[in-house]
Amino acid sequence: MHPACAMRSSLRANPVALAGHAASMACMSFQVFGLPVSRGVAIGRAVLMASSRVDVAHYFIDESQIASEIDRLRVARDAVATELGTLQRDMPAEAPAELSALLDVHLMLLHDESLTGATKHWIETRHYNAEWALSAQLEVLARQFDEMEDEYLRERKADLEQVVERLLRAMARGVSLSGLGTHVPRDFGGEDPLVLVVNDIAPADMLQFKRSVFTGFVTDVGGRTSHTAIVARSLDIPAVVGAREASHLIRQDDWLVIDGDAGIVVVNPSPIVLEEYRFRQRQDELERARLSRLRHTPAITLDGERIELLVNIEQPSDAVAALDAGAVGVGLFRSEFMFMNRAGELPGEDEQFEAYRAAVEAMKGLPVTIRTVDVGADKPLERMSMSELRHEHSLNPAMGLRAIRWSLSEPAMFRQQLRAILRASAYGNVRLLVPMLAHLGEIRLTMEALARAKQQLTDAHRPFGSIEVGAMIEVPAAALILPAFLRYFDFVSLGTNDLIQYTLAIDRSDEAVAHLYDPWHPAVLQLIATTIAKAREMNKGVSVCGEMAGDTDFTELLLAMGLRSFSMHPSQLASVKQLILRADTRRLAGEMHAILGSDDPAVTCSAVFAAPVGQAAYRAR
Ligand code: PEP
Ligand code: MG
Repeated sequence: MHPACAMRSSLRANPVALAGHAASMACMSFQVFGLPVSRGVAIGRAVLMASSRVDVAHYFIDESQIASEIDRLRVARDAVATELGTLQRDMPAEAPAELSALLDVHLMLLHDESLTGATKHWIETRHYNAEWALSAQLEVLARQFDEMEDEYLRERKADLEQVVERLLRAMARGVSLSGLGTHVPRDFGGEDPLVLVVNDIAPADMLQFKRSVFTGFVTDVGGRTSHTAIVARSLDIPAVVGAREASHLIRQDDWLVIDGDAGIVVVNPSPIVLEEYRFRQRQDELERARLSRLRHTPAITLDGERIELLVNIEQPSDAVAALDAGAVGVGLFRSEFMFMNRAGELPGEDEQFEAYRAAVEAMKGLPVTIRTVDVGADKPLERMSMSELRHEHSLNPAMGLRAIRWSLSEPAMFRQQLRAILRASAYGNVRLLVPMLAHLGEIRLTMEALARAKQQLTDAHRPFGSIEVGAMIEVPAAALILPAFLRYFDFVSLGTNDLIQYTLAIDRSDEAVAHLYDPWHPAVLQLIATTIAKAREMNKGVSVCGEMAGDTDFTELLLAMGLRSFSMHPSQLASVKQLILRADTRRLAGEMHAILGSDDPAVTCSAVFAAPVGQAAYRAR
């Protein structure tokens, strides 16, 4: 039997146990729909990370820690029992009798096997830390209360939550909390593969899962090019975001199939459906193995055009995957991940320098394009949920103090980063990239900061190499005055994720408007096409480093526009290369007029290019 079902049916006759009966219809099969962000199929048991009023650490423990973790739970339970007993004893005589009865209920819940016994079960079988196990069990029981018909009993859920909160606080008093997703050993002792289901994860937290046991992800919120989605894609693990109610509908330990191509989550699939998806998994593996044989094939089109295939990375250690994939350099190093979740203490010049140097040396002389820090919007410096971002800080963070705007507002920090990047340039081929520029005034301030950083290094006798400087074109204003930008820069890189967001006024991380986030919009295509054409006319390098670069739906279109440099996640490189090897850029360029003049470029592209365009990912929802 499904362990969660077994647990439900073993509940005793008290409010908690009654809730168990109400949940007897569990383990039902159904589907949840979201946005596909990372391809492939993942099959595993659901791990829900509950949101709690107390900051709960989630991490796996080793076999050897099980006893001490259960002990922590027991110590916390004893402490809460004492706390409640003291409250009862010290209750003033004039206090209403209901208050004492309420404390009785709390004590009964505290000692109930279905709370603490089942929590132990999560610790022993899943190797969750005690806080995680407790909040997981709270969630199981809370759902059961929600399904009860008796209003009095249903309302006891609030009592249960209070008891659990007391337990969590008691545990927190004894132990410092670590962050979501840290301490995740690969070998955690569990047998089934695990799939993570959460309301929301910050991009920096998602990055922690690089070394984790999870084989797939589902989130309630987020858009297809939100940074959480981008990091999930860089992990190359099937993921669905923007699945709205997923974390409420799915239960701990449900079996899940994540279809990362279609954006579907199948909950408790039937054996036939499961077999179908296992078959697809095997097909995907074969396809990947076939494509990986292209790794070291130069990316040259049928008509002899050499195409530069670069990668996007988030940390220096990603360079290994970049070289493995056959990349000829790094087109975008998102340096901001080093700045996030650091409890207010930003990395100093030396720490940054070491990280940049590590990436540069790992790339063995190939170019490494380091983007100056792009915090803000959905990449806050401190851990924050999307709702906190929207409601507690700037009302419209995507339009706020982000990227170069933030750097220019922190001049000392900015010069520190510039010095660190310049110093790394003494060890290889470094290019500097500046995000989100819109004003010529910002360019001038950036250039002044760079000149000052160079002077400071010269004065300190610190070596640095020559360095090309590029601008990200991701605000329509920048695309529209490109010739003025090109007077200052050696190259430009199209950040299509933001260019689409700002052209169409669609928050890229908001699933509510995800259906309007349309890379095929004629206005977006016009901006991309003219940027590529003008940069080429002026003999300046031009690349695309937004998600469009790694999406095979757009490979031929971008080649037709004259693009010769693409930067993407390492896992996307082989399939893009396959299309490049089959492409004839002269024939493709001949189709551009019809496409740019079309009211529905996606349909026109499907008709004129060899590979049909799979528009479903963007349009069908
Ligand atoms: C972009 O906007 O396309 C881009 C590459 O930058 P980021 O996704 O980090 O905003
Ligand atoms: Mg951007």
